[in-house]
Amino acid sequence: LGAATLPRLHDRSGLTVPGYDRAGVRPGIVHFGVGGFHRAHQAMYVDRLLGRDPDAAGWGIRGVGLRPADRAMRDALEPQDGLYTLTLKHADGAVETSVIGSLVDYLYAPDDPEAVLDALAHPDTRIVSLTITEGGYNFIQATGEFDATAPDVAADLVPDAVPRTVFGYVVEALRRRRDRGLAPFTVMSCDNIEGNGAMAHRTFLAFARLADPDLADWIDTNVRFPNSMVDRITPATPPGLRAEVAGRTGVDDRWPVVAEPFTQWVLEDDFASGRPAFESVGVQVVPDVAPYELMKLRLLNAGHQTLCYFGYLLGHRLVHDAAADPDIRELLRRYMTDEGRPTLRPVPGVDLDRYVDTLLERFSNPAIADTVARLCQDSSDRIPKWLLPVIRERLAAGGSASLAAAVVASWTRYAEGEDEQGQPIEVVDPRAAALVPLARLSRTQPLAFVSDPELFGDLARDEGFTRPYLAALESLRTRGARATLAELLAIDP
Ligand code: NAD
Repeated sequence: LGAATLPRLHDRSGLTVPGYDRAGVRPGIVHFGVGGFHRAHQAMYVDRLLGRDPDAAGWGIRGVGLRPADRAMRDALEPQDGLYTLTLKHADGAVETSVIGSLVDYLYAPDDPEAVLDALAHPDTRIVSLTITEGGYNFIQATGEFDATAPDVAADLVPDAVPRTVFGYVVEALRRRRDRGLAPFTVMSCDNIEGNGAMAHRTFLAFARLADPDLADWIDTNVRFPNSMVDRITPATPPGLRAEVAGRTGVDDRWPVVAEPFTQWVLEDDFASGRPAFESVGVQVVPDVAPYELMKLRLLNAGHQTLCYFGYLLGHRLVHDAAADPDIRELLRRYMTDEGRPTLRPVPGVDLDRYVDTLLERFSNPAIADTVARLCQDSSDRIPKWLLPVIRERLAAGGSASLAAAVVASWTRYAEGEDEQGQPIEVVDPRAAALVPLARLSRTQPLAFVSDPELFGDLARDEGFTRPYLAALESLRTRGARATLAELLAIDP
């Protein structure tokens, strides 16, 4: 796969290729965190746009990777001139593969930090978008405050430092734009965080305040940070996908992407220097994203958390197997309808019953083969953002959150690092070193795991949470996940 072979791919059956002239596409977006999701989602929307609107040629994407793990993306994309394949797998076995052409360039920042700053400060750059994961925003869970003590951030705050973090790059680039009299760009977060734009605003501004208060004021006045809700389940690329795509289409792609057919992007219309006509390719551009994102975070994302630890403890390793387990399915349905959904506001144009049914179908798609282990990663970034707000709101409204509390118990049991057969569990979490011992300590000090105010606030002092949490945890330890679920589901809400 590459620019030179692209013309020959036009007549391959079962393969869609860019119908536009890539040579005419100029970068207008710089994206940090080119992983599976960006390539299945935003880059796909921009590719669609380039294909239908000749005026969109100024909205190509330059990808940027900051972390050592991103070297592999550079090595895959560079020889392919930014081209890659996206394969969509339907539950009925149908498969569609497209070559995506919107990524016109990829910069691995440690190779040449100045090139990244040049790209960001370039007059043509009008949007800087982000999928840097929930942890990438570098804030303290319980307080929401920016963590200026993180070593890379502290290094970026030293005057004239060569940037390492997204904060260092973006803020230095904005300084250059201001000093050169250039318009600011918009910072568009596409991460799974409630109020992702507001979060980006807070964290970038906090960094800028520490670096240069005048610049922070300029950013606050001039830069926009739209909120968005993004949705398309995109598992990590499975090992066999490259050969599978090559076998089916004849295209050898060093790093293909696979995703579910469903896709949704709800975007707040708040841009500093223009935006692509995203609505023409199916993006819902709205004045207020909040109801959509709460629906997604509290049903889909919190639903994934509901499924994954119980699912793992029951021995399921693939999400669709867990979703097909009648107890897990019932737990999911009950969590969504009895606890997640009552905390939502009406969502314009969405039938929430239908949404819950669609989620259960999406989780059950066997063709996606998403792993339970992927959903169990980075729990300490996810549970506090996706599930704990549901518990707090339910309790504040005088309701019950027994199922959500049991999900926190299932995480605790999982974080002990050993399954019900005594086999080790690899706990992948930035806080694993602290959490695993705490989970084990909670065998003798039952509230040890949930007492860290940074993650749990003061939930450990709220009986409405601790009662069902402790009961589920005790049951998970003494009777196992299956019996615990049976008992939970027998309780009327
Ligand atoms: P991925 O592992 O394929 O890619 C993650 C990217 O983020 C990598 O380029 C990595 O280097 C970068 N990154 C991680 N931490 C960073 C940091 N501190 N600073 C800068 N860059 C950092 O993961 P993915 O599947 O592409 O998911 C990325 C994010 O996209 C998720 O965390 C989530 O917020 C959002 N998302 C994912 C999905 C999905 O189904 N995969 C769906 C909706 C939203």
